[in-house]
Amino acid sequence: MDKHSKLIGLHDYSDSHGGYKIRTINPKIQSGSTVLFECYEDMQLSHQGQYSGVTYGTGGLSTQKAFEKAMCSLENGHSSHAFSSGINAIINTLMAFTRSGDEVLIVDNVYGPTARFCQKILTKYNIKITHIESSIGAEINEYINDNIKMIFLESPGSNTFEIQDLDAIVQTAKKSNIITVIDSTWATPLYFKPLGLGIDISIHSATKYICGYSDVLLGCVTVNKKHSKEFDEYRNTVENYTNAHDCYLALRGLRSLRARLKAHEQSAYEIARWLESVEIVDTVIHPGFEAHPQHHLWKRYFTGASGLFAFTFKEKYSEQKIAIFMNSLEMFGLGYSWGGFKSLAKAKQYKRNGEDVHQGKHLIRLNIGLENTQDLIEDLRGSFSKLN
Ligand SMILES: *Cc1c(COP(=O)(O)O)cnc(C)c1O
Repeated sequence: MDKHSKLIGLHDYSDSHGGYKIRTINPKIQSGSTVLFECYEDMQLSHQGQYSGVTYGTGGLSTQKAFEKAMCSLENGHSSHAFSSGINAIINTLMAFTRSGDEVLIVDNVYGPTARFCQKILTKYNIKITHIESSIGAEINEYINDNIKMIFLESPGSNTFEIQDLDAIVQTAKKSNIITVIDSTWATPLYFKPLGLGIDISIHSATKYICGYSDVLLGCVTVNKKHSKEFDEYRNTVENYTNAHDCYLALRGLRSLRARLKAHEQSAYEIARWLESVEIVDTVIHPGFEAHPQHHLWKRYFTGASGLFAFTFKEKYSEQKIAIFMNSLEMFGLGYSWGGFKSLAKAKQYKRNGEDVHQGKHLIRLNIGLENTQDLIEDLRGSFSKLN
């Protein structure tokens, strides 16, 4: 059975009250600090670190476990761990596997705060951070040395949409016993299964499509068998608590994810195709388009596209002109994050290795929400007209 169908169909969270069994299709939202042991002997096992059950609220109770189990199944992982935000999931993964003297290779298109954490914090602990090309493949061999502990990837990058050649990277990493981690947020666990490609760890900002309503911050790390024990130990040590209600909302979001994602995907394709026909638009940067430089990789690894993409204008507009365009948008909100019901726009210029991306033009990133597609097109058309 399809894993997502299974997630929707086979849950039975039973409870009993007054002699009646209550069967619900949703888990309860369980909060608490104390968890009771059955007996003194179990408590002694816990003191010795040999008790395998849940011993305290910080480890997550039944709601957190229900979400983690669902993510683990969709990701084909060995264990999944919820964190209080996507960036927290990323930070904890970096902390769990690195130590002083290590070097981490990090792709140039990673989520900004990921790069910032590496540069500002990991370097304080004598961990060397080396940036590598966003579309890197076999050339990664040139970077390999004995100190490299981890390769941190993101495909497609959530601002500039490059995709790495994961087969080539996994092959190199496995030879040198390097841990591979990927931020998989863009495609959700429905359209992308990195662990199946041999990547060790997959991270999602569930804040985006999984929760889907821009009202929750949540992250999730899914680990393969090889690295599960080490990550479990780290997590049990830092006791990073994640709120039960947020996990409940994320699990609820997962159940409707396929339907929502399809709507985001279709609307985004329609708008992206329309943009290609607009006179003042130059490049539409969408991994699902043949013109995308890594479209061949996208076809190899992804089974669908989400609703986040970007475009550039033919002309390199001034900040003032971009401001006119952005401020004229009525349906697209100007705000960070994505994956929610409301359409959002962001305009930014990017540099890689000191070099301009797309000739230094602003990348207009669109998060296509769940509004009527035609209304969104009219909104963009209206703002384009202000540029003439
Ligand atoms: C938003 C985002 C994150 C961080 O998620 P938060 O839950 O907002 O902390 C990480 N990676 C990518 C690609 C993102 O877009």
